Amino acid sequence: MTPPRRSPLLRATTVVAAVVPLCTAGWLGWRALDDPAPTPTPAAAVRSAAPAAPVETTPLSPPVAAAPTATPTPTPTPTPTTAPTTAPTLAGRTVLLDPGHNPGNVQHPTEINRQVDIGNGRKECDTTGTETNAGYSEAEYTLDVSRRARAILTARGATVVLVQDGDRPWGPCVDERARAGAEAHADVALSVHGDGGPGSGSGFHVIMPAKVVAGKADNSAIVEPSHRLGLLLRERFHAATGEPYADYTASEGLDTRSDLGGLNLSAVPKVFIECGNMRNSTDAKRMTDPQWRQQAAQGIADALTAYLTSS
Ligand code: ZN
Repeated sequence: MTPPRRSPLLRATTVVAAVVPLCTAGWLGWRALDDPAPTPTPAAAVRSAAPAAPVETTPLSPPVAAAPTATPTPTPTPTPTTAPTTAPTLAGRTVLLDPGHNPGNVQHPTEINRQVDIGNGRKECDTTGTETNAGYSEAEYTLDVSRRARAILTARGATVVLVQDGDRPWGPCVDERARAGAEAHADVALSVHGDGGPGSGSGFHVIMPAKVVAGKADNSAIVEPSHRLGLLLRERFHAATGEPYADYTASEGLDTRSDLGGLNLSAVPKVFIECGNMRNSTDAKRMTDPQWRQQAAQGIADALTAYLTSS
């Protein structure tokens, strides 16, 4: 694995030469998927840039041509410019993660079909969710990604509460999921889903709460902060996964809805993410891949971190 010794400049040139075609290939790959984002940041570029940085900066810093005379003492520590991913900045903050559905819902149709009050109407307590054509269920997906996101956020110092952790036979109902944020004294909440759209459509989208003041629902206070979280989530999820915005629903990856109990009844800022379309073969392949799910969790954790450190 150790390369033969070469001059620092030569080594740096080799690194750059190796990274550029990789990035280009990745970028073209994502563009081919009709990515509508103005400045795509494919995961391949992010991944390859991070480990390359220290290799390049260390040997190059003294002989760089740009400022040869200004300061004789070269800057001693090449501070990595990567991301606020390592610092435990979330101490004292609480995040509620809501893994959509429950793997056990399939066995409990009576319980989950019961109607519950969502303020402006009534809706099923919970649903089974969708699955890929190969049978990988949305409920398994949402639980796995939520657990991965919990690990990242916990490492950053946050207290993370899961609405369900595979520790109950079904549900909970959507109204209970909504209440869970306040009950956990959470600063923010996020519900993880995978969509069951038309097989020809792909991409992810974020669902933000519309203002609902009806019956027992009044989410006026969370609309604005949830919108802010939604924009951050769209940005960070796309950056971490390279997943394009949905081309079959929502608009530029964003939707606003008033028919979701989980948003109507939440007292803490909350959004949903539909990470991809599980009925689409390209998205299904990604969502079935544990490595991609880790990237999805990273995007979700980064968005929550950005939200919490800017509020
Ligand atoms: Zn769902």
